[in-house]
Amino acid sequence: MKKKIIVIGGGFAGLQFIKNLKPGMFEVVLIDRLNHHQFQPLFYQVATSQIEPTSISFPLRKIFQDRKDVTVRMAEVLAADPQNMTVTSTAGTFEYDYLVIASGGKTNYYGNNELEKHTLSLKTTYEAIKIRNEILENFENILNSGSNADEGLFNIVVVGGGPTGVELSGAFAEIKRDILPKDFPGIDFSRLKIHLLEGGDHTLNTMSDLAKRSSEKYLKSLGVQLRTGVFVRNYDGSILQLSNGEHLESKNVIWTAGITGNLINGLSQEVTAPGKRLRVDRTNRVEGYENIYAIGDIAYMETPKYPKGHPQVANVAINQGKNLARNFTRMFKGGKLTEYEYRDLGSMATVGRNKAIVDLPLVSFHGYLAWYFWMFLHLMLILSVRNKLIIFINWAWNYITKNSSLRLILKIDPDK
Ligand SMILES: Cc1cc2nc3c(=O)[nH]c(=O)nc-3n(C[C@H](O)[C@H](O)[C@H](O)COP(=O)(O)OP(=O)(O)OC[C@H]3O[C@@H](n4cnc5c(N)ncnc54)[C@H](O)[C@@H]3O)c2cc1C
Repeated sequence: MKKKIIVIGGGFAGLQFIKNLKPGMFEVVLIDRLNHHQFQPLFYQVATSQIEPTSISFPLRKIFQDRKDVTVRMAEVLAADPQNMTVTSTAGTFEYDYLVIASGGKTNYYGNNELEKHTLSLKTTYEAIKIRNEILENFENILNSGSNADEGLFNIVVVGGGPTGVELSGAFAEIKRDILPKDFPGIDFSRLKIHLLEGGDHTLNTMSDLAKRSSEKYLKSLGVQLRTGVFVRNYDGSILQLSNGEHLESKNVIWTAGITGNLINGLSQEVTAPGKRLRVDRTNRVEGYENIYAIGDIAYMETPKYPKGHPQVANVAINQGKNLARNFTRMFKGGKLTEYEYRDLGSMATVGRNKAIVDLPLVSFHGYLAWYFWMFLHLMLILSVRNKLIIFINWAWNYITKNSSLRLILKIDPDK
């Protein structure tokens, strides 16, 4: 009988793990609460109506249509029971021989329930669509309120100056300049302010000095109100309290300032590492367990080069997934396991049209070239030729016309 592997999560790590397992060696059950894989790096373009959500979402069943050894179950995993080698989910209990946890992370509000309740976040396709809906509705509300429009409707605030916050605020500034005045000629857009708040001294704090400097220059040139060295203390849905004593009125606050692990209940507390990640050895085996592995954002692996764990980025997730798959083949054949080593190929961010920054291991550059490089690499990473084509057409159309037609307010229940 084939050994059974349960994989929790069809994100970058889970997907690459299964794709790189030799078909037929194991029986694989992939459990995800979503029925699709999400390409998170382009969420901000969905949130700002530049591309459709369908072009960055891929049905898991379609991806594994030709794999007879893979079963997909759409369910939320509630807990693992390592002693009985089972996981409980909203679709019942599943037995396993090996458990691979690839459950990624979720937005970290650092225990502040008010922030969680009142701000928007950007960790799922649903949330990206929600931001799109709320921002577009914001302008409808301004028009409908006439001269009584609340000041908070004129302030869009992004919290967190990492790549997501920088990309999102840059994209908002561009649609404010190029698109919204055409759609809403009755609104005085000189009143609309895009704010970016960052607690550290710079934006893109984990990137090169060139990246920090260029991103700040680009944001300012787009009119983004950038404040660094400022933390958000609280937000009640109308007013933000900042650490410097300032208050900022806003009805639209988007929180991109942190990530915490999607922990699965049932494992010993001792394996929980900083950031609610699972402590793993160099082969991604969860410490203290023989047959449980964690890969991607949820895994915390200390190495001489990365004593505080790896950055939570797609490259690490993809390569940990691939390495673990190869190790499962080695285990199957009785071979020696290979330790994971992160090869940092660089990082990048874009602030808007012709404005991007690329840090490669030996060189950093910015401007046009970096922007083309950014687009090319993201297109290459997108699954399916059809989606690559649709995104390319959308980008080309937006570039030429500065006017996409994706600004739809789509709600499941329009009364909410
Ligand atoms: C907005 C945004 C932009 C980003 N931009 C970049 C970028 O430009 N470059 C880069 O390298 N990285 C970027 N990242 C980070 C990158 O997306 C992550 O590092 C990567 O997705 C991690 O992959 P993963 O497989 O570990 O987790 P994920 O991709 O998050 O997948 C986890 C999966 O597990 C499922 N899941 C979780 N809990 C359960 C449960 N209990 N039961 C069932 N299913 C569950 C989820 O539904 C999800 O499908 C970005 C992230 C975000 C949010």
